[in-house]
Amino acid sequence: MSENQPTTAQPAAQSDRIPVRVRPEIAGLPRYKQGKAAAADAFKLSSNEVPFPPLEAVLDAITSTAAEAHRYPDGAALALRNTLAERNGVTPERIHVGAGSVALLSQFITAAAGPGDEVVFAWRSFEAYPVLVTVAGAVARPVPNLADGSHDLDAIAEAITDRTRVVIVCTPNNPTGTIVEREAFEAFLQRVPSDVLVLLDEAYREFVTDAAAIDGIPLLDAHPNLVVLRTFSKAYGLAGLRVGWAIGDERVLDAARNAAIPLSSTAPAQQAALAGLAHADEVRVRVGVITERRDALATALREQGWFIPEAQGNFLWFGLGEHTEAANEVFVAHGIVGRVFAGDGVRVSIGEPESVEPLLAAAAEIITSLPAAHPAREAVR
Ligand SMILES: *Cc1c(COP(=O)(O)O)cnc(C)c1O
Repeated sequence: MSENQPTTAQPAAQSDRIPVRVRPEIAGLPRYKQGKAAAADAFKLSSNEVPFPPLEAVLDAITSTAAEAHRYPDGAALALRNTLAERNGVTPERIHVGAGSVALLSQFITAAAGPGDEVVFAWRSFEAYPVLVTVAGAVARPVPNLADGSHDLDAIAEAITDRTRVVIVCTPNNPTGTIVEREAFEAFLQRVPSDVLVLLDEAYREFVTDAAAIDGIPLLDAHPNLVVLRTFSKAYGLAGLRVGWAIGDERVLDAARNAAIPLSSTAPAQQAALAGLAHADEVRVRVGVITERRDALATALREQGWFIPEAQGNFLWFGLGEHTEAANEVFVAHGIVGRVFAGDGVRVSIGEPESVEPLLAAAAEIITSLPAAHPAREAVR
C-alpha cells in the first residue's frame, strides 16, 4: 500500500499483543488520532471546528435539559426530526438522527456491507471511512483523487463491482475542500446500480458558495438508493455534543436505525440542535464570516504561489507530499496547529481572525525555505 492509501491493514506490533482473541483486522487498525491539543498560545486548526462559542440560545437549551439527566433521552429524537422534516419538506420518517454523522456513517455501512462486501470511496477523504468499513467486516475500495484533489467520479463508477454495497461521496471533500458538481453527480448516479447505497456526505454543505455544487436533498425523490448526511458539528458549532442527521428513503433509514446503538443521541444534543435551527440566521452570519476569511486566505496563498485546491469547506488543503513533516514544523513554529496527513499534506481549518497573519507568514516561509514543497510546481491535470 502506498502512503496515500488508507492504512487499515497494518499488523499490530508484537509488544501490542492483545491478551484475548480479537478480529485481526480490528487489531490492525490505526488508533484514531484526534486533532492535536495546541500549545496555549497556538491556534488549534486541526479539527474543522468553528472558532465561535455556542450561541446564547444553545447554552440555555443545554442547561434546561440538565434537571432531566436521570431520564433517558427520546431515542427517536422526534422533536428534532419533526423540525428537520418540516424544513426539508419531507415526513419525519425520512429523517434519522444520530450521535454525529460519523455514527450514521457507521450504521449505514454496517447495515449494507458485511464480510466480503465492498465499499467504494474517494481517497484521500474522511479518515473515518476505511476504519468504519473494516469494523463492519467489509472491504474498503479507495479510489485516488484527481491531481486537483477532487473526486474521480469516472474511476469511482468503474470501481463498482457486484460485491459493492455502498459508495461514499464526500462534498466538499475533507480534507481537500473540493466539491462535486450537480451535473457530474447526476450523471454519476445513473452509473450506480439502483440497489447500491450511495452515501452523500455533506458535512460542510453550509460553507459551500459555489453555485455549481451538488445539494443532494432535491435528488432524493428520484433516487431511493441515495442518502444525504448532514451534521451540527461544523457550521452549527456543536461538535462537542455529537449530533448529525440523515435524510433519505424511509426503508433505507429503517435499516440504519436497526443497526444503531439505542439511545445514543442525548437530550442536550437534541435540544441544542433545535436551538441552533431556531437561530439559523445567526448561524448563517457566522458561516459568512468563515467563508469570507477562507476565500481571502485562499487568494492570498495563491498569490504567494501555492496551489490550493478549490476550498468550499471551512478549511484549506496544503498538498505537500513528502515535504509534509518539514512544512508542518514551520506551521507549528508559527503557532498554527493543522491536521497532518503523513506523506500527503496538511489541512488547516479557518479559525480566529488572529490566526490569519501567522498562517500566511508560515506559508510564505515554507515557500522560501522549502521550495520543493511548493505544490504549484507540480503539474495539475
Ligand atoms: C466532521 C465530519 C463528519 C462528521 O462529524 P460528526 O461530528 O460525527 O457529525 C462527517 N464527515 C466528514 C467528511 C467530516 O469532515
